[in-house]
Amino acid sequence: MPPLAPAAHPPSPARRYAITNFGCQMNKADSERMAGILEAMGYRYEEDELAADLVIYNTCSIRDNAEQKVYSYLGRQVQRKRHNPHLTLVVAGCVAQQEGESLLRRVPELDLVMGPQHANRLGSLLEQVESGQQVVATAEHHILEDLAKPRRESTVTAWVNVIYGCNERCTYCVVPATRGREQSRTPQAIRSEIEALARQGYREITLLGQNIDAYGRDLPGITPSGRRRHTLTDLLHFVHDVEGIARIRFATSHPRYFTERLIAACAELPKVCEHFHIPFQSGDDQVLRHMARGYTVSRYRRIIRTVRQYMPEAAVSADAIVGFPGETEAQFQNTMALVEEIGFDQLNTAAYSPRPNTPAATRADQVPEAVKVDRLRRLNACAERCIRHRNQRYARRVVEVLTEGRNPKDPQQLMGRTRSNRLVFLPAAGHGLGDLVPVRIEAVRPFSLNGCSLSEPQEQRLLSGQR
Ligand code: SAM
Ligand code: SF4
Repeated sequence: MPPLAPAAHPPSPARRYAITNFGCQMNKADSERMAGILEAMGYRYEEDELAADLVIYNTCSIRDNAEQKVYSYLGRQVQRKRHNPHLTLVVAGCVAQQEGESLLRRVPELDLVMGPQHANRLGSLLEQVESGQQVVATAEHHILEDLAKPRRESTVTAWVNVIYGCNERCTYCVVPATRGREQSRTPQAIRSEIEALARQGYREITLLGQNIDAYGRDLPGITPSGRRRHTLTDLLHFVHDVEGIARIRFATSHPRYFTERLIAACAELPKVCEHFHIPFQSGDDQVLRHMARGYTVSRYRRIIRTVRQYMPEAAVSADAIVGFPGETEAQFQNTMALVEEIGFDQLNTAAYSPRPNTPAATRADQVPEAVKVDRLRRLNACAERCIRHRNQRYARRVVEVLTEGRNPKDPQQLMGRTRSNRLVFLPAAGHGLGDLVPVRIEAVRPFSLNGCSLSEPQEQRLLSGQR
C-alpha cells in the first residue's frame, strides 16, 4: 500500500492543467484523451506548465535519453511543490509503467504514477489523489472504451486508436512491458468515433497501433474461408465510407505481418493515402534474427516492391536502429545499403539504447557508445541524401494538399500535407483549414515543399488524374 500524501487537493473548477508529452503518436493520442477527461471535470488548459495546478508528464521510455529528460522536468516541479502543496504532480505513460512504485521512492512529491493502460481512468485516479492518497496505477488493465471526448490538438486531422499494446518480443524494446498485451477495439466502436469526428469537421484520420497489422487477432471470429474475421484490411473497408472524412492513414506497420491483401486494399480504397510507415530496424538478416523481428531483408524488399507495383507513387518511411549488440561494421553497411536501395521518403534513426528487462540489454557484446554515435551520424547523412533526392520528384508537380494549420513562422502561409505525408507550405489567401487544395510545387526543401494553389480547371484535372 503506497504511503499517504502529505496534503489533500480540494477539487476546484478553476484548477488549471498542463500536459507535457514525450514520445510517440500513441502517447500524443493518450495525452489528448487525458486532456479531454480533465476538461470534462472542469479543469482549464494552461499553456505554461510552471503556472498549472495539475501537471502531467506523459512519458516515454523507449530510449534512455527520453527517460532522463523526464527527471529533469520533474526537478523543476518538485521545487514548485515545496512552496505550493496543492500542486498535483502526475507521471503517466511508459516510464510510469516501467518504474511503478520505485518512482515514488525516487520522487516522493509525486501524487500519481499511472501506466498507459490507465489513461482513460484518469478521473477516478485523481479522485483518489484528492482524498489524500498517493496512487500507483500500473496493474495490467482491460482498457475501457473511450468515454471522454479527447481534446485534440488539430481541428483537421485526428488519431484513432484501434489496437493498444504489443504481443511482439523484439529483444531491444520495452513497449510490450510498458503497454501490455494487445487489445483491439471493436470495429463498431472505431467507426462510431470516426463518424463523430466527421460530424465535428475532421477531414483526416490516422488509425493507430504499435503493430497495427495485429489488429483484430484478439477479437473472436473466423470467416468461412478460415481467415480471421477482423483484420486491418477489413477495418479499412468497414470505415472507408464515413462521409466527410477525405483521407485515411494508419501506422505502424510490421514487415512480419504486412500482407499483399492489405496493399491491394490500400490501392483500391481511394481515401487510404499512399504512405506506409514500415520500420525495418536493420538491413542485416543476422541482426534481425537477434532482434527477433521475424522477417528477413529480402521479405522487406518484396513488401516494398509490391507496394510500388500497386501504387508507384507511394511514399515509404521507416525506423532503423544502429549499434544493436554485436552489430559489426559489415552488418551496419548492410543497413546503409538498404537505405540507399529503397529510397525512403523519411527515416527515423536511433542508436541502440539498452532498456531495463529486455534480452538485448544483457548481452555481453554491447557496441561502444562512440561507435554507435559514429554509425548514427553516417546513417543520418546517407538517409538525408536519399530523402533530398526523393523529394526532387515533387518539383513542378501538382499535388493535393490538405490544409492543417497556419505556418507558425509566417501567418500569411498555410501548411498542410500531401497524400504521401510531405509537408507543404502555400499562400493562405482564399483557403481555410481542412481544404483539399491542388498545389503546384515551386520549391523543394529538405523537409518540406513550397507551392501555390491552382485555379485553372485544366490544372485541377491534372491533379485528379494523378492517383
Ligand atoms: N512498433 C513499431 C515497430 O515495430 O517498428 C515501433 C514502435 S517503437 C515505439 C518506435 C521505434 O523506436 C522503433 O521502431 C525502434 O526503431 C525504436 N526503438 C525501440 N527500442 C529501442 C531501443 N532500445 N533503442 C533504440 N531505439 C529503439
Ligand atoms: Fe516494440 Fe517490436 Fe512491439 Fe514495435 S513490434 S512495439 S519494436 S516489441
